[in-house]
Amino acid sequence: MSNSNGTANGREPVILIKDMTKVYRMGEYEVHALNGVSLEIGAGEFVAIMGPSGSGKSTLMNMLGALDQPTDGTYLLDGTDISAMSDDQLADIRNRKIGFVFQNFNLLPRMPALQQVELPLIYAAKGQRHERARRALEMVGLGDRIDHRPSELSGGQQQRVAIARALVNEPAIILADEPTGNLDSKSGTEVMAIFQRLNREQGITILFVTHDPWIARHTRRIITLADGVVIRDEAVPEPLVAGKSARPSDEALVG
Ligand code: ADP
Ligand code: MG
Repeated sequence: MSNSNGTANGREPVILIKDMTKVYRMGEYEVHALNGVSLEIGAGEFVAIMGPSGSGKSTLMNMLGALDQPTDGTYLLDGTDISAMSDDQLADIRNRKIGFVFQNFNLLPRMPALQQVELPLIYAAKGQRHERARRALEMVGLGDRIDHRPSELSGGQQQRVAIARALVNEPAIILADEPTGNLDSKSGTEVMAIFQRLNREQGITILFVTHDPWIARHTRRIITLADGVVIRDEAVPEPLVAGKSARPSDEALVG
């Protein structure tokens, strides 16, 4: 994928979608969740997706994560057309290339952190599972919590376990749907600090959905959806450094 116009911000596109639509059919009724989205995301980009509720953000993330197939349009992931793939091939691509982080963490309730993080390694049939999982937990600052179960961790710590689980297979992309949505502002900032470090030090491409304009300003690009189309796509001139700038009051953000 390196023709003259095939790069996003001068980088190789890791995500290239063209005229993507998604129609959910519910009996006689149709919901047009995506109405022709075209996007190019370069390797190593750090992107926030914003937009009102129902604008298609989660649908887009599901498509990008190969969790669901679009109704129409093309999707090249790392140069590979995934629209023609079987379910098994998609599962394999997901496991090798993509790490997912969810708003509600999606951890197994009774399982210690270390085992949670080992799960993707089991699916990928990779060795040295303890060692790799421990390293991923250390990367998110939880080296001293590896035996803790979710009920023994704060919300922010649980989300960090989920990030370690997303990281452990060394994915090219991390996709996160409102990862700070259930967190207080301090824990949200910690998640941003981890994302910024992973992006900067390991070059991992990160896309996440947020409702929070202040959180979005920690990225380098903000894409806004409305009614299933991209209505804005802009660079963040001076991204905030997580933990370095105090969050303004809600009044100041709104006003
Ligand atoms: P957002 O994440 O921006 O709130 P979604 O992508 O979840 O938006 O939803 C976009 C539209 O598609 C909404 O009208 C929603 O009701 C509809 N939708 C989402 N998922 C489904 C589904 N599985 N079946 C039917 N309709 C859906
Ligand atoms: Mg959503």
